[in-house]
Amino acid sequence: MRLGVDFGGTKIEAALLDSNGEIRVRQRVPNPGNYDAAVRAVADLTAQVERESGVDVKAVGVAVPGSLSPVTGLMRNANSVWLNGKPFLQDLQAAMKAPVRLENDANCFALSEAVDGAAAGARVVFGVILGTGCGGGVVVDRKTIEGVNGIGGEWGHTPLPWRRDDEKPVQDWCGRWGCLEQWISGTGFKRWSGMDGAEADQLAQAGDARARAMLDLHADRVARSLAVVIDILDPDVIVFGGGMSNIASMYASVRGKLLAHIFSDVLRTKVVQNKHGDSSGVRGAAWLFTPEEAA
Ligand SMILES: [Zn+2]
Repeated sequence: MRLGVDFGGTKIEAALLDSNGEIRVRQRVPNPGNYDAAVRAVADLTAQVERESGVDVKAVGVAVPGSLSPVTGLMRNANSVWLNGKPFLQDLQAAMKAPVRLENDANCFALSEAVDGAAAGARVVFGVILGTGCGGGVVVDRKTIEGVNGIGGEWGHTPLPWRRDDEKPVQDWCGRWGCLEQWISGTGFKRWSGMDGAEADQLAQAGDARARAMLDLHADRVARSLAVVIDILDPDVIVFGGGMSNIASMYASVRGKLLAHIFSDVLRTKVVQNKHGDSSGVRGAAWLFTPEEAA
């Protein structure tokens, strides 16, 4: 049995997975949105899962926005900005009285999909979350690549490539100008199209020309952004999560536009939707400990 927690900006979810990767117990609560209450909420939620399952949990993996600084051990880079600068790992361990591992939520997503999801069996996997923010995660041989600075896969805060004259950079919440997050996340799409992804998808399917054009432009920006990843990492599979990943037309559209940008005469990369949906955060978090460590 392994316990994973997905610490999201709006909700916190905990799930207990058995050795076959089946979810035995799951619980979710709204994220209270302030630090002390959020630490308590995670501890209460895991205690609730323990009570309901009768399992005494030995270790907890937690998927978080952002990451821990390898120098200070404090949180940074979280779009739930009230987490930044806090000793989240120590506080969670103290509240739950158990060893905890924190891992970036996009890395957990990529790990979950690489272990037994849409990228199962693939050697090199790039996971992309296009939701409130824009996250990326690299998994090689079923291990997340955190990197020497702890920012492996933090693709959302690189600039939009092959920028056109009408693509004026805007300032991101992180302070940088022109980050991908402002263009291709769900929030970014709404910023420049005036629609949310689901609404645009519905309108496009009903034949609305403007919605179609907006989705086509979004796919073009996603393809340009991913071409750089393919040129550097050349992953076997790129797997999408987050609200924008539910737009079924995006996959063929992105694939169709990639070849014009990558440094290759052939595109063998699979570009796919996730298998585990909303559960990938919690599943990837559960995989952060081996069964031996978590038992
Ligand atoms: Zn940024």
